[in-house]
Amino acid sequence: MIGTSRRTPGRNPHTNPLHTVIATRELGQGIFILRLAREGMHFRAGQWINVGIPGTGEQREYSIYSPPSADHLDVLIKEIPGGEVSPALHRCRPGERVEIDGPHGAFTLVEGLRAAPHYLFCASGTGVSPFHSFVAESPAIDYVLLHGVRHHAELMEPGAFAPSRFVPCISREGAQPGEHQGRLTTYLGEHPVDPSTYCYLCGNSDMIYESFSLLTRFGVPREQIFAEIYF
Ligand SMILES: Cc1cc2nc3c(=O)[nH]c(=O)nc-3n(C[C@H](O)[C@H](O)[C@H](O)COP(=O)(O)OP(=O)(O)OC[C@H]3O[C@@H](n4cnc5c(N)ncnc54)[C@H](O)[C@@H]3O)c2cc1C
Repeated sequence: MIGTSRRTPGRNPHTNPLHTVIATRELGQGIFILRLAREGMHFRAGQWINVGIPGTGEQREYSIYSPPSADHLDVLIKEIPGGEVSPALHRCRPGERVEIDGPHGAFTLVEGLRAAPHYLFCASGTGVSPFHSFVAESPAIDYVLLHGVRHHAELMEPGAFAPSRFVPCISREGAQPGEHQGRLTTYLGEHPVDPSTYCYLCGNSDMIYESFSLLTRFGVPREQIFAEIYF
């Protein structure tokens, strides 16, 4: 089912829990991992949290990049130049505190199926974040991840995924062996998936709507397609 998580400003920015910044790690291209103290927060892989600078009243949604089993909380953020929140989060230094509301969302792996399913994960840009959490939490799941980016430098941490299960789709640079030169949706259109596949789509709305349309054309039931739209 296609759905977008509505922007949900924290219930009351003054009462949201504060989490200490442990570190920021630069991945290039304005993309960074913000590592926060877990502070006992429970979540399921695939969920997202609202993050903001205390006192500003502004928060934005970020998928949780780390698995529920980790003792810290990572979010993978692309700084949007001129944006209200992501540049401020990029400037955070260890020891500072951010406010968090959540977790939210139902973009989680299905439970209770009779047979372990095959999963197709389609990500554009930082939309790879929930898939990183899925795979780190459940390394034995049977998946293929298509990751659409413009340049190789935007692949972030490709080593987190088994090479045999990972198809980088590079739209604006030459591809290397094992990669697809072109858009994710072009690759998907040329590689029909079995209708029994459980499909998860995360990132920008154009990729999600186009992938949804291809998947339903392949015969994948709508109930087996899950989407998280970032923008
Ligand atoms: C459920 C959900 C989960 C999300 N998870 C993540 C995540 O894990 N990592 C992440 O980096 N972002 C994620 N986002 C997007 C994030 O919430 C913010 O929209 C983004 O960080 C920009 O916020 P800003 O305040 O800096 O910019 P704003 O001042 O809010 O606006 C800047 C403009 O940038 C656009 N924009 C937002 N994201 C992007 C993008 N990636 N590339 C280009 N333009 C963009 C917005 O539509 C807006 O027009 C998620 C969004 C949703 C709804």
